[in-house]
Amino acid sequence: MSLIVQKFGGTSVADAEKIRAAARKAIRAQQQGHGVVVVVSAMGKNTDRLLELARDVNEKPPARELDMLVSTGEQVSVALVAMAIDALGSKAVSLTGGQMGIRTDSTYTKARIQSINTERIERWLNEGYIVIAAGFQGIDEDLNITTLGRGGSDTTAVALAAVLGASACEIYTDVDGVYTTDPRALPEARRVEVISYDEMLELASLGAGVMHSRSIEFAKKFGVPIHVRSSFSDIEGTMIVAEPESETSPVSGATLTRDEARVTVHGVPDVPGTSLEIFSGIAARKISIDMIVQNVGRHGRADISFSVPTSELSATLEAVREAAERIGAERVTYDQDVAKVSVVGLGMAKQTGVAHQMFRALADADVNIQMITTSEIKISALVARDAAQTALRTVHRVFNLESTPSDAKSWEQIRAERSERADVETLVTRLREDALEELTLTGIAMVDHQALLTLRGVPDQPGIAADIFDAIGNAGIFVDMIVQGIDAENGRTSISLTFPQDELPRCLEVAAQLKQQYGLEDFHGTEEIAKLTVSGIGLRSHTSVGTGMFRALAEAGINVQMINTSELQVNAVVDGKQAQKGLVALEAAFAEALR
Ligand code: ASP
Ligand code: MG
Repeated sequence: MSLIVQKFGGTSVADAEKIRAAARKAIRAQQQGHGVVVVVSAMGKNTDRLLELARDVNEKPPARELDMLVSTGEQVSVALVAMAIDALGSKAVSLTGGQMGIRTDSTYTKARIQSINTERIERWLNEGYIVIAAGFQGIDEDLNITTLGRGGSDTTAVALAAVLGASACEIYTDVDGVYTTDPRALPEARRVEVISYDEMLELASLGAGVMHSRSIEFAKKFGVPIHVRSSFSDIEGTMIVAEPESETSPVSGATLTRDEARVTVHGVPDVPGTSLEIFSGIAARKISIDMIVQNVGRHGRADISFSVPTSELSATLEAVREAAERIGAERVTYDQDVAKVSVVGLGMAKQTGVAHQMFRALADADVNIQMITTSEIKISALVARDAAQTALRTVHRVFNLESTPSDAKSWEQIRAERSERADVETLVTRLREDALEELTLTGIAMVDHQALLTLRGVPDQPGIAADIFDAIGNAGIFVDMIVQGIDAENGRTSISLTFPQDELPRCLEVAAQLKQQYGLEDFHGTEEIAKLTVSGIGLRSHTSVGTGMFRALAEAGINVQMINTSELQVNAVVDGKQAQKGLVALEAAFAEALR
C-alpha cells in the first residue's frame, strides 16, 4: 500500500471549520487507496500564547517545563483532527511524539531526532486507521517530553515520511508554494513548480520562512519528495526534490535578511588559532553567523568581519569582546543598519560571471556593497538597510526571476526522466538507525595550485566591485571565491579573490591597471594557496563543523586566510605548502562523521 504523509500547519487547523477541511483532505487521500499519516501543528498562534503564559509566571522558564507546556498545543490539535475524522465516518487515532516512539536527544526546545520506532504507527495503519501524529515533539531516553524548535512540525512530517517510506510528504500551509522571493516583499515574485533540496536549504537558512530547514535536510538524506501547497486553494504548489527546475538558469531564488548587523574585530594577530578563538565563543552561545570575511593582514594583523541577525548582536558582541581581549585584537566595531541580499542557485556552480552580473546590477541601481561573500551556490552582499528593498528588486530582475525559465521542467517530467535513468538518486545511506539527525558529511577535499589576489584600499563607493570584476572577466580569468570586507583604517574596502595559479601573472597585470585607474592603495598576489572543503548536509545548522574545522587546522599550526560557509560546504583557504597536512588533520577530526 502506498503511504502519504500530510502535514497541516497552525493556520490550517486554526478553527473547527479548518480542522474539518483538513480531515476531509486526509479522508480523500485514504479513499484514493493510500495509507495516510497526518502531522499537525498547534492551532493558530497557540504556541506563542503558551510561551507568553510561561513568561507571565517566570521570566526564564526551565527549558524542560517549556517543552512540557508547548507540546500540549499539538496534543490539542491531534485529538481534534481525529475527532473530526471520526465525525465524518472514518477511523482515526491520535498519537503523541512519545507514543509514536520519536526518540530525541535531551536538548530541550531544540532537540534533534535520534530514532523513530514505526511499529505502532504501522499497526494502526494496517488496521485501516488514519494516524494523526503530533508534530514538533518527541521524548528523550528518560521519557522527558522534548520539542524540536519553532516550526519543527515540518521536520516531524518529513522524518515520518522518510522512515515509513512514504511516496510523498504534502505540506499544507497558508502560502501556495515556494516563491523566487517573499511575495510580500516583492509582488513580482514567481511561484516555482520545482526547487531542489540544496537551493531550498540555502534559502531556508537565509530566512525564507516556508519550511523548517531541518526538514529539508531529512528530505535530502532520504530522498523524500516534499509537496508544498495551500490548504485553502487547489493550486498545485511546489515540489522540493533533488533536481532543480532549470538546468541553465544560474539563480533560482533571492532573499533579503533585513535585520542584520556587521561585526568587525580589528587588528587580529594573524597567527593560527585566532579565528577559532573568536568563532568558538560565538558557537558556544549557539549563534549562527554568516558572511565571514577575513582581510588578509597587514603588519601581521588581520580584520575579521561577519554578519549576524540584529537580535543576536548583543550576545555576539559579548562573546567577541571576550575573545578579542584574550587574543590581543585591537578593537571591535559594529554597524546595526545593514541588510543582507543573497541569491541562490545550483546553476551558478557551473557558470562564470554570475557574481559579476549581480555586482553590476547593484552598481547600476546605485547600491553600495559593503561586504561580499560567495560560495558554490550562493552569493551574498551586505548593503545599507535603506537600500535593501532596491537591492532585492534589482537582483530579482537581473536574474529574470519573475519569468519561468525556458527549459523549466515539471515534476512529472523529472519523474519520468528518473524512471528512464533507472539509477534513481542513491542518497546518503551511511545513516545509523539511531542517529537520524546526526551530522552527515559527504566528503573532505583539497583543491591546490590556486592563487589569491588581494586589492587593498579600494574606495568604498557603488560600482567599484562591478568594475573590478569587469576587468578580471575581460581578461578571461575564472574566479572561484570572492570576499570583500571593510578596511579598518580608512573606511575603504579590501577585495580578495582566488583562481587557478597559472592565472596569477595575468591577474597581477589587471591589478596594476586597476590600481592606477581607481587609486587603490596596493595589491598583493599569493602564489601558492589551496582550498580545503568539508561537504555535507545542513552544515550551518550544525555549527560544530565550522569550529571543528578551525580547531583542527589551528592545532595543526595552519593559518586560515579565507573562509566561506554554506549549507553544503565549509571552505578554508590556506597556504598551499601546508594544505596536505591540513587535509590529513581534517580527515582525522571528522573521521567519526564520515564513517
Ligand atoms: N507549534 C510549533 C510552533 O509554532 C511547531 C510548528 O508549528 O511547526 O513553532
Ligand atoms: Mg509552521
